[in-house]
Amino acid sequence: MDGIQPLKTIDAFTQRIHIAYFSMEIALRPEMHTYSGGLGVLAGDTARSCADLEIPVVFVTLVSRSGYLKQEIDANGRQVDHPDPWDPGAWTEPLGAMITVPIEGREVWVRPWVMPLTCPLGHCIPILLLDTDLEQNSPEDRKITDALYGGGAEYRLKQEIVLGIGGVRILQALGFSIHTYHMNEGHAALLGLQLLRQRRHHPEDVRPGESVFDPAQVREMCVFTTHTPVSAASDRFAYDMVEKVLGDFIDIGELKTIGGTEALNMTRLALNLSGYVNGVAERHAETAHRMYPGYQVRAITNGVHVQTWTHRAFARLYQSAFPHWAHEPEVLSLGDQLKDEAVWSAHQEAKRDLLDLVKKASGVEMSADMPLFGFARRMTGYKRPDLLFTDMERLVGIARKQPFQLVFAGKAHPRDEQGKALIAELNGYVRQLANSIPMVFLPNYDIRMAAVLVAGADVWLNTPLPPMEASGTSGMKAAFNGVLNLSILDGWWVEACVEGVTGWAIGDDDAFGAGAGHADLLYEKLDQLVLPLYYKDRARWIWMMKEGISKIGAYFNSQRMMRRYATEAYLR
Ligand SMILES: *Cc1c(COP(=O)(O)O)cnc(C)c1O
Repeated sequence: MDGIQPLKTIDAFTQRIHIAYFSMEIALRPEMHTYSGGLGVLAGDTARSCADLEIPVVFVTLVSRSGYLKQEIDANGRQVDHPDPWDPGAWTEPLGAMITVPIEGREVWVRPWVMPLTCPLGHCIPILLLDTDLEQNSPEDRKITDALYGGGAEYRLKQEIVLGIGGVRILQALGFSIHTYHMNEGHAALLGLQLLRQRRHHPEDVRPGESVFDPAQVREMCVFTTHTPVSAASDRFAYDMVEKVLGDFIDIGELKTIGGTEALNMTRLALNLSGYVNGVAERHAETAHRMYPGYQVRAITNGVHVQTWTHRAFARLYQSAFPHWAHEPEVLSLGDQLKDEAVWSAHQEAKRDLLDLVKKASGVEMSADMPLFGFARRMTGYKRPDLLFTDMERLVGIARKQPFQLVFAGKAHPRDEQGKALIAELNGYVRQLANSIPMVFLPNYDIRMAAVLVAGADVWLNTPLPPMEASGTSGMKAAFNGVLNLSILDGWWVEACVEGVTGWAIGDDDAFGAGAGHADLLYEKLDQLVLPLYYKDRARWIWMMKEGISKIGAYFNSQRMMRRYATEAYLR
């Protein structure tokens, strides 16, 4: 089965690395289209911090040759989806090792590419990108690692087989001996099944009625980070389909005992095969615990990679005041000591970059002197990008007295009709508000655009329906750039919001309420607090920017996050 040819380049890693992080998506650089949104950005920031901190982790993902989607906005304001291919050969190297995975009774060949990720201090960790586009495979199987989150349930299951089962096999073929497997979301849970198979007891050693499998052994090796705050959002596969695709890889009766009786629920499977489980914010861990009572769900709140998300103007400022800020962002707790003029001029530099981007992408000239609100993230129902437009008359009335401008961006999943309708709706508002509120929707949101947006806005707006925002990370990126958050209390913001100090909350903490009245509360805050502060009390505004930098920056960074994963989840 195995054509094992470990390459020289990987040998340096195989001796040292015993932890593997599996993620369906990862945002490594803009040219590599192996991510769709927040989950992938988190995986990328995790990898960057592992390199910075020399935490020995190998990352495993799919090569996703045609990417997620390239978004075009047509003349009617609707999203048009295009493939978004990239060239693995330009950024990664092929490795010689090949393994197979069982799919529909066939042996499907998988080969990894490797991308060495090197941090500014010179430490390096490997990223493996699994590929089935090999001449040994049928044309259909060659497409399995093509479209990130593409196709239907069957296609997804095949991708998860390649990631989970293929990933474990590839690591072994390359000579790694992994003692800790980290599943970033349920997509990776099949890795646990591969480990189960390899650790099964001999049937003769098992008493009648007992299983040959020993999940306790697997749990010692596995860590699971869940990201889904609603049960309906987790991957579920019908067992007859699973049986057809996985064949006799595992007995379906056995699988039902750990994957759920109705359908194969990837969250439940991961929960049952992991000895350490965490949610991505305190609130999210509570929500996950409610959804799956009986499991201990800890919380490790997300953070973002500071050097990736800090605008160069702020990076210069931090570098001169706190030379070790990038390695140890905790020192930003002294950010309140920065000089007001230096903070304001760094912000103006970042804002100019955003105004340039807006001009280039849309032809619209926005003003440096008018407060700019940014809203950019995956476009989907629960994120409520339309909340601000609930009462158009009131919105326009507020802007007449205290003008502001709006920048929106975000992709909808190709099958998310509600998300697509929201994009069309937003583009309708762009036209409708043409004479009252400068507004643009920038097409094809990606990490490059995100970096400009989260740094150049004055206020970062987030209006999800609680408790659906597991964490959210774009607001953290904004805070590193002195951008103030105006957000519903959900996910990370429950922990980070100090009202009128680090930003503002929209409404009370009603995680399990219906989110009613949020639009009213948003208008009130905008009209009574945010806009008056911007126009009439610039000193207090800059004080808040510095409070955000020091209180949010010092904590909501991925160095702190990875030190916690290392000590609490990996060193058990
Ligand atoms: C940070 C980021 C996200 C996550 O944004 P949220 O507001 O946390 O949902 C999504 N997409 C891109 C490109 C990002 O950079």
